[in-house]
Amino acid sequence: KTFDDCGFPPPLMSAIAKQGYEKPTNVQCQALPVVLSGNDVIGIAKTGSGKTAAFVLPMIVHIMDQPELGKGEGPIGVICAPTRELAHQIYLEARKFAKPYGLRVSAVYGGMSKLDQFKELKAGAEIVIATPGRLIDLLKMKALTMKRATYLVLDEADRMFDLGFEPQIRSIVGQIRPDRQTLLFSATMPRKVEKLAREILSDPVRVAV
Ligand code: AMP
Repeated sequence: KTFDDCGFPPPLMSAIAKQGYEKPTNVQCQALPVVLSGNDVIGIAKTGSGKTAAFVLPMIVHIMDQPELGKGEGPIGVICAPTRELAHQIYLEARKFAKPYGLRVSAVYGGMSKLDQFKELKAGAEIVIATPGRLIDLLKMKALTMKRATYLVLDEADRMFDLGFEPQIRSIVGQIRPDRQTLLFSATMPRKVEKLAREILSDPVRVAV
C-alpha cells in the first residue's frame, strides 16, 4: 500500500513527503482506509507504530470536507490524550499536516496557564488536543463549544483509565454530538476500556497491529 492509494489531496501528499514518510506503517495501512470511509475504529496500537498519523491525516480530510468550516465556532476535531507529553507530541504531528490548510491547532493540558489556554481557544481552533481534566475545566469556563465537533479521538485509552480519567472522558464524549466519528486507540484492551468502546463507538472496525 502507498499513501497515493488513500486519495489524499495534493497539499497533504506534499506534507507527507516533506516528513519523509515514504510508505504507510502497518497500523496506517490498516486504519487509514477504514477511517477515511467514515467508520468508527478501535485501534490496538502502541506508540511508535505511527498511530498518530493514522488518526491525524483522516482528521484533516474530515475537517476540510465540512461545509461549515468557514462558519461557526469551536473545534471540529477533538483529541484526548492521557499526558501533557503525549498531547504535545500529537500537537507537533497535527500541526505539520494542518499547516498547509491554515487550520489552527491548540493543545491544552495541565501545568500551563489556564487563562492563556482560555484566550487561545476563544481566538478559535479547528483542532483541539487535550488532557481530559483540563478540557473539562475549559469547557466549564466556556472557553470552547463542542457543537461543531464531529471527529473525536481517544488516544491511549488504557492509560487514561489508569490515570482515573474515565469520568472526564465520559463527560467529554457526552458533550459531543452522537453523529460524530469516534476513534479509540489503546495499547491494551482491559474490560473497562472494552465496555466504554461498546458504549461510545458505533459499529467499530477493529484494527490490531
Ligand atoms: P507514533 O506511533 O504516532 O508516535 O509515531 C512514531 C514515529 O513514526 C513518529 O516520529 C512519526 O513521525 C513517525 N512516522 C509516522 N508515520 C510514518 C511513516 N509512514 N513513515 C515513517 N515514519 C513515520
